[in-house]
Order: sequence, then structure tokens, then C-alpha cells
Amino acid sequence: MTDIKSMTLTELTDHIAGMGEPAFRARQLYQWMHAKCVSSLDDMTNIPKSLKARLRETEETNTDSSNSVDITCLKPIEVRQSADGTRKYLFELADSNLIESVLMRYKYGNTVCVSSQVGCRMGCRFCASTLGGLTRNLTPAEILDQIYRITNDINERISHIVVMGMGEPLDNYDNVIRFLNLIISEEGYNLSRRNITVSTCGLTGRIRDLADEGLGITLAISLHAPNDELRRTIMPIAEKYTIAEIAESAAYFFEKTGRRITFEYALSRGVNDTDECATELARLCRDLGAHVNLIPVNPVTERGYEPSGADRVSAFKNKLEKQGINVTIRRELGQDIDGACGQLRNRHGR
Ligand code: SF4
Repeated sequence: MTDIKSMTLTELTDHIAGMGEPAFRARQLYQWMHAKCVSSLDDMTNIPKSLKARLRETEETNTDSSNSVDITCLKPIEVRQSADGTRKYLFELADSNLIESVLMRYKYGNTVCVSSQVGCRMGCRFCASTLGGLTRNLTPAEILDQIYRITNDINERISHIVVMGMGEPLDNYDNVIRFLNLIISEEGYNLSRRNITVSTCGLTGRIRDLADEGLGITLAISLHAPNDELRRTIMPIAEKYTIAEIAESAAYFFEKTGRRITFEYALSRGVNDTDECATELARLCRDLGAHVNLIPVNPVTERGYEPSGADRVSAFKNKLEKQGINVTIRRELGQDIDGACGQLRNRHGR
């Protein structure tokens, strides 16, 4: 079984050569899949029928033989449009698992938040994606195709990507790195590496590995608490890695890449939104030159966390800024369409 959409151009060229076909066919196939984002071999008008037939014999991306998918292609089974323009997609994979992706429209362009796993095993207490644990990793093609299907749906290019949907991207490290290399490839979608953010809950060894890849992307770390004691009550991963260890790996990332880290901090009423928390957080950020992105925590009915009120969010922001920290408040988009990751999928019980 071969997944040609997850192959680099070099690998695809070798694969096609191995089939005794001319190498230029590989470039054509690659461009159809990754630059023109077509959903089937049928749409590739300059590929001979004989080659398509041979590829269909070797490509097996769908276990359901009644379905005519011949290259990895996600099936949108629900799309919700928010009043603010945000579109939330529920995609079905070939094995019937469901994943979510979100399109957010900003003045500077279209951002897509992609999922990297089906479910998640990190167990963050405020998150709906982890309620059923991890089912499986997504393949590079399944991550890419979230962007391709949305591009075709809105008939516009996607300019920014955040790997911040369902799953912990660095827990699916090899496939996510392959995805990143494919999405920035010049013969493919050619997305600017500067416009890609990968968000992790803080797998420190993998943060170092990512720094060593030299990809030039931005790293966001979901911190959500300024000290280990509080963080352990919110994020089980904090039992494994301390904030001091995360800070060390963040410093390494900055040193290797020259890219400043962003700390994601979801403010939850009465949990992590006090002035004392802001002061502790400021101290941590100052040492690292890190930027803070404040997010009012999404209300997840299953978990009982409530977002901080607007006054508290702005007081927290002011407290950080007074201590010289660069802060943004992430505009909450799509609240009217189950904007929080994992919520739409949970409604479908898969
Ligand atoms: S916040 Fe991210 S890492 Fe944490 S459980 Fe949810 S999907 Fe996993």
C-alpha cells in the first residue's frame, strides 16, 4: 500500500521511475496533488489513463472499496459557518474517524487551524479533544488535505497555518515534520514557512528536535500556568516536564532559530487569572524574550472550566505589559459554532 500524497517530490520521482514511467510524470502528479489540490486521479487531465489505472492498483487509501477515493482525500461531512466568517469543518477519514479543522478569516489572510491526530493523549483538563484519548496519528497527507479541501471550498489560497487543532503535533513528530516540508515545498502549495505556527503542550525533547530541523517556523507553547504546582492541576504533561525544563528547551529553540517563542495562556476564571499569576508569568517571559497570547478559555461543558471575564482579561494583559511583556489577546472566533477544538467531533460521538 502506497500513500503517494505523503511522498516528497524526490520520493515520488523514485516511485514513478520504479514503475517504469518517465520522471516528468512525478512532477505532474505532485503539482496536481499539492499545487492544484485536486481530489482524485480523475481530475489530472494530462496523466495517461494507463498510469492512473496502475496507480489505482497500488494506492490503497480507503478501506471501503465502494468509495472511489484514489488519493488521500478527506470528506467534509459537516461545515458550520459563523457570523464572523469562521468556518469549521468536520472531515471524515477513510477509516471513518472524524477530525476538525477551522478556517479563520483575518485582514492579513486566511488562517487554517489543522488537526494532527485523531483525539489526543495529553489529557489537558480544559480540552474537549482529549476526552476519548488518542485514536491514531494522522498521516502527512491527511494533515495536508485539510488545507487542500478548504482551499477548494472557499476558492482562495490559505496564507497561514496553525497546527493547533486536535492532537499534540510533537507526539506525531515524523508525520508533522513531513507535512511541514511538503506544505512549504516550492513545487507544491508553497506556503511561506514564516506563516506557520506549531503549538505544543511542551514536549521538551521534541522542541529541541524541531529547533534542529531548521524549518524557520514559529513555535507556540501552551503554558496556561506560570508555576508547576498550578500547571499540574490543569495539564497532566506537567508531571513529566517542569516549567524550568520547558524554558530551557524554549531558549534552545530561540538560540537555534532566532524565532521568538509564544506562550499560549488560556485564562480561566479563578484558576490562573490572578495578578500573582501575571507577575510570575512576566518573570518567565522576560528571561526568554517570549511573547504571550492570551485566550479566554473555551467553555467545555464536560470539564467545568469557565472563561475569565473581559475585565479580568484586560487587567491580566495590563499587568504583563507594565512589566514589559509583549501581549496579544486572541480574538475568539466561531464561538457560535462550537469553536473549541474537539467539540464538533464529540457531538458526532466518533
Ligand atoms: S490542548 Fe492540545 S495537547 Fe492538550 S489535550 Fe487538547 S489537543 Fe491535546
